Amino acid sequence: MGSVCIDRIGELVTNDPGGTDRPAEDVTDDAHRLGIRRDTAVVVDDGRIAWIGRAGEAGPTDERIDVEGCAVLPAFVDSHSHLIFGGDRTAEFDARMRGERYAAGGIRTTVAATRAADDATLLANATHLLREMRRQGTGTVEIKSGYGLSVHDEARSLTIAGRLTDETTYLGAHVPGPEFADDVDGYVALVTGAMLDACAPLARWIDVFVEQGAFGADAARTILTAGRARGLGLKVHANQLRPGPGVQVACEMGAASADHCTHLSEADVAALADSGTVATLVPGADFSTRSPVYPDGRRLVDAGATVALATDCNPGTSFTTSMPFCIALAVRECGLSPAEAVWAATAGGAAALRRDDVGRIAVGLPAALTVLDAPSHVHLAYRPGVPLTRPLLAPRPDQAVGASDHSG
Ligand SMILES: [Zn+2]
Repeated sequence: MGSVCIDRIGELVTNDPGGTDRPAEDVTDDAHRLGIRRDTAVVVDDGRIAWIGRAGEAGPTDERIDVEGCAVLPAFVDSHSHLIFGGDRTAEFDARMRGERYAAGGIRTTVAATRAADDATLLANATHLLREMRRQGTGTVEIKSGYGLSVHDEARSLTIAGRLTDETTYLGAHVPGPEFADDVDGYVALVTGAMLDACAPLARWIDVFVEQGAFGADAARTILTAGRARGLGLKVHANQLRPGPGVQVACEMGAASADHCTHLSEADVAALADSGTVATLVPGADFSTRSPVYPDGRRLVDAGATVALATDCNPGTSFTTSMPFCIALAVRECGLSPAEAVWAATAGGAAALRRDDVGRIAVGLPAALTVLDAPSHVHLAYRPGVPLTRPLLAPRPDQAVGASDHSG
């Protein structure tokens, strides 16, 4: 890989507030937050950002790409997805849109289809979805297990996920496995015993769905404690369908993120603001379940919480791979400004994965950039549903994503 100059960038979103080169009186809070630089060029050498400066002023490079005034952003960091599954849930979605409510038990439909699918089928399905993500500007993806719910099927789900990303998450605690419908304690013992033994070496994270019909606060603490003892980072599916203890458990245990956060109390918002736990909003799920409310991103940002955006791509409740769609929803329905939503989809996602090498554009970092067919990041919300993103210098769709220097 040689050197390439990306020239005539109209608006460069760096997420590096120190990098803003506009006069102080011209820098709004939003422009400052995104570290926006105008009329710039970026030189990438051997896959890393080597130089950022004024358009037309870069030294000689092997190749030059003229983006003709378009905006360039860090590739999106999608910190929450469930890509390893068999079958789909078209009929369930259709029924819900005709008036039925979502219940957590629908997961078991996908569990049966996932167990019945061979490895090649599961890998091909996940790879197809990953290509969709890439086309829509995503550079780093977290992928969860959670549709196997047996030792064998959770471990093979994570093995397949590990072929696609470094950011693998063990979600044996999605719902109790079908064999344990009347024995949740027995299932928690499996999740923290033989299943953890098989899955911990294959995962960077452990996650638990805290919800009626899934797991309560005490079971969640037991599961997260066992995962932490095996070196896994912590994540929680929290407060999705109704108020509950998920956010408090996540914050008290130092989880990297509490995901969903649709139904939050004042105490939940305060706990997120006072902790290092990122509030990851997945408004595609609220959209697809026709939730009566969306997460209040405005309230979280105003309280000082760190907010991330993710797709939650899964066949039951959020079958979208599109970070631009989630950005548009977060602006329209969660009260974020376009700049806050773009930050949440890039730097926020990186924070939810405790990564500092993605979600930003700065000299020395790996180059994962998205060019918009538009002059400003605002167009991601202003022009919903329009395919504006072109991956630039990201790995090809058939290559693994999230490859990085971190270990874990
Ligand atoms: Zn999820």
